[in-house]
Amino acid sequence: MSAAWEAQARCRTVGVEPFFPEGNGGKYRAAADEAKAVCAMCPVRQPCLDYALEFEGGSEHGQRAGIWGGLTPRERHAIHRQQQTAA
Ligand code: SF4
Repeated sequence: MSAAWEAQARCRTVGVEPFFPEGNGGKYRAAADEAKAVCAMCPVRQPCLDYALEFEGGSEHGQRAGIWGGLTPRERHAIHRQQQTAA
């Protein structure tokens, strides 16, 4: 079952490949930037990010995958930690 916001996801128009970048360093960043550019114009960025944060819970950044809500696994992990500190 999919959430209602998924029907408006901008990534549906480009495919999933850019959202799961591989490699390290500059190669990874270049690929992630491509996905982030799509997310920047997505009308459902916030619900997408909220979904990922809830789904991933307290997972370490290495256990998270892909670009969701315009953020990398490491960036989402940082937000999770900020939320835990603020709670
Ligand atoms: S924010 Fe990015 S990953 Fe999330 S639905 Fe939109 S385009 Fe897809």
